[in-house]
Amino acid sequence: MTNIVLFGPPGAGKGTQAEVLKEEYQLVHISTGDVFRYNIKNETQLGTLAKSYMDKGHLVPDGVTIKMLNAEVEKTPDANGFVFDGFPRTTAQAEALAKLMDEKSSQINAMVALEVDDEVLVARLLKRGKTSGRVDDADESIIRERVAEYYRKTDVLKDFYKTQNKYYGVDGVGSIEEITVRLSEVFDRL
Ligand code: AMP
Repeated sequence: MTNIVLFGPPGAGKGTQAEVLKEEYQLVHISTGDVFRYNIKNETQLGTLAKSYMDKGHLVPDGVTIKMLNAEVEKTPDANGFVFDGFPRTTAQAEALAKLMDEKSSQINAMVALEVDDEVLVARLLKRGKTSGRVDDADESIIRERVAEYYRKTDVLKDFYKTQNKYYGVDGVGSIEEITVRLSEVFDRL
């Protein structure tokens, strides 16, 4: 199995690139943000809880997020591998993911991080907000809170994977196709 954490701040292009790469490398794409939005749409208990955090630009608590991620992974026991998008976002999540992979006699092969300047992120998310219908894309202060949350809790995970020699940084500015080429170069080396 090849399991990749596609990493980066909000607006880096993780979701867009994961959709392309999952086809190219026959991986199962798990986006925790998408699973939360699905639950919100279907008005589940998890959705109601997640919404109260997401609408403010804050992270959903680790306990529920980790439980949900484990359940998502278990849905495809025969997967060739996974591309994780938006997970892990905290050290506790990264540790839980390592444990889950270990239980499957597998591992995370790489964290591939899309690098994009903060002001580019904010501009991209504001633009996406015009069509995405996402509450958390609609307001600049919420967007900035999401970026701040990333620096408070998530950016540190680069070190988590760097110490395991699994970190690969990729320039996330350019056309979708250009960035896919850069990511594929990394994936092909794994
Ligand atoms: P995303 O679609 O990845 O931008 O995520 C949208 C929102 O969902 C985030 O701002 C968080 O509120 C929540 N979320 C998604 N993934 C996670 C995660 N791994 N841990 C905690 N909250 C998450």
